[in-house]
Amino acid sequence: MKFELTILGCGGAIPTLDRKPTAQYLNIQERYFLIDCGEGTQVQLRKYHCKFSKIDRIFISHLHGDHFLGLFGYLSTLSLLGRKKTIHIHAPKDLKKLLASHFSISGKQFNFDINFNELNFSKSTLIFEDSILQITSFPVDHSIQCCGFIFKEKTSKRSMIKSKIRELNLSIEAIKSFKNRQNFKLDGKLIDFRDVTKPGNRSRSYAYCADTCYNENIIPYIKHADLLYHESTFLEDRKDKAQMTKHSTANQAATIASKANVKELLIGHFSARYEEIDGFLEEAQKVFKNTISCYDGYIHSIKI
Ligand SMILES: [Zn+2]
Ligand SMILES: [Zn+2]
Repeated sequence: MKFELTILGCGGAIPTLDRKPTAQYLNIQERYFLIDCGEGTQVQLRKYHCKFSKIDRIFISHLHGDHFLGLFGYLSTLSLLGRKKTIHIHAPKDLKKLLASHFSISGKQFNFDINFNELNFSKSTLIFEDSILQITSFPVDHSIQCCGFIFKEKTSKRSMIKSKIRELNLSIEAIKSFKNRQNFKLDGKLIDFRDVTKPGNRSRSYAYCADTCYNENIIPYIKHADLLYHESTFLEDRKDKAQMTKHSTANQAATIASKANVKELLIGHFSARYEEIDGFLEEAQKVFKNTISCYDGYIHSIKI
């Protein structure tokens, strides 16, 4: 049961040869998501062998170009490849206008529907739910309206110990009760659900904080996440610049990770001003040991 994140771009606003603009591909139990879609994302999806056409849901955090300019090309290619299935986009409302005007000027006809869902920037909002997963957006603090996203598995029900089903010749009704943590009477004897079931899988979670300055208001949303992505555009030597442009330093990203008590921190969105990025990991690990510095093509699996 995969919970796997692929970094398609770890760069800041200006791409470099090694660091493309922000985009991430997330596979949670064969549900495929794209988080932000900077310029060149479709090429990165190919390069890192992602399931290009299987993405059904796209999340765009905000409308700075380094987070959405790749969407025009990606959607056009999906159309050329003959996609028929609806694609769902969660994004700021103005993106709908931008896409509509671009595709109307270029005379582009799609074979598939785009289901557009406007983000709420005033409060945390459940934006998607199915049998195994919940996705919630939450406001972050950037120079324009911007949202982060949390992807969280639901705790699965207890599962049956197979040998017990045969041994006790259990009916469907009995199995249902046990999975729902209820005891069941069998031939006059009460069977404890704990004796015939084992615990379900734990719920794994990934919190994506998009572009944001240091702001402790986001901590309640991301608390205890298995993996936190927090931008780290600058080092402390440019703390003023970070504050001015509503971005964060590596030290600040690590401080948020520590205060939110997450298991692991992933830092990225490195400014093109820094040719070498070793200093980011060094600075962050002084505050939060379990930090990983991401690079284009980096894959991170969250284990069960
Ligand atoms: Zn950005
Ligand atoms: Zn931005």
